[in-house]
Amino acid sequence: MFNVVIIGSGCAGLTAAIYAARANLKPLVIDGHEQGGQLSLTTHVENYPGFPDGIMGPELIDNMRKQAQRFGAEFKAGAVNDVDLMRRPFKITAGKDSYETKTLIVAAGASARMLGLPGERELIGRGVSTCATCDGYFFREKGIAVVGGGDSAMEEANFLTRYASKVYLVHRRNEFRASKIMIDRAKANPKVEFVTPFVVEEITAPQGHVEGARLRNVQTKETREIAVLGIFVAIGHDPNSTVFKGKIEMDSNGYLIAKHGSLTNVPGVFVAGDVQDHRYRQAVTAAGSGCMAALDAEKFLEEHKD
Ligand code: NAP
Repeated sequence: MFNVVIIGSGCAGLTAAIYAARANLKPLVIDGHEQGGQLSLTTHVENYPGFPDGIMGPELIDNMRKQAQRFGAEFKAGAVNDVDLMRRPFKITAGKDSYETKTLIVAAGASARMLGLPGERELIGRGVSTCATCDGYFFREKGIAVVGGGDSAMEEANFLTRYASKVYLVHRRNEFRASKIMIDRAKANPKVEFVTPFVVEEITAPQGHVEGARLRNVQTKETREIAVLGIFVAIGHDPNSTVFKGKIEMDSNGYLIAKHGSLTNVPGVFVAGDVQDHRYRQAVTAAGSGCMAALDAEKFLEEHKD
């Protein structure tokens, strides 16, 4: 029987583990599909406080893991495929293993949707990015493309003009999902060129980093080459919440709903990080919410000593 089981080993889960371990709760962290979460897929992180020269994402996450282990957090590989939250202790199943726990912290994260092109994943950190706030700075005076037609794509396109010399906004339709104000702002920006209705057919990277993209007009089939050093994929995120459907309250997009900090509709279940946050999605905000979830779990255990 565990005091705390933490689902997810990204920034939120590991921060929760550090706090819970330092409170002597001996937490168990179940790694999930993507050990280390989104930070493990990024390169240089320059906006995490405390690192004036920046730090590589995988190193940052590895440090957090070691820090949690140092205070006694236990780790298990594997992904959770079932949870029983009807009564306490909760039962968590990951493959053939199951665990009982008095409290649960869900920090399962969200995964950025990708285009599904060959080589795309391998080029993350080599020109392909899913985070303008994280990586925009590396494209000073360079040409880049943003793919997508929602608010994220508009926001990222605008934001990236701070750095980039030119931003192609590539979207598969002539209509946009984004709100009018966001579209108007991007359209008024002289550095943004709208390229619609186009899809990215191929990312060109002969030397192992992005040098351009071949686009195809979905109506006329015309192709067009653009020379860009960065491709920002902004086609949405999917919260990793399928396993909690019908068990923890979520919004229509599948994001778990946090109330009063990290509390959910199930007493004893707390949420942290991107699985409950589609707004900020930063390493530092995920870490902050992981801390909140651990403190809330600790308080809950204090109040429910049976
Ligand atoms: P989104 O609204 O779901 O938009 C995703 C966009 O990506 C759509 O335009 C979609 O095209 C396109 N897309 C999806 N899959 C694709 C694929 N395989 N290939 C090419 N294009 C693809 O996602 P989001 O922009 O990340 O926004 C998510 C939520 O956060 C929304 O509710 C949004 O309003 C909110 N948000 C708000 C702000 C803000 O207000 N400042 C900023 C960011 C996000 P189709 O339209 O053709 O399907």
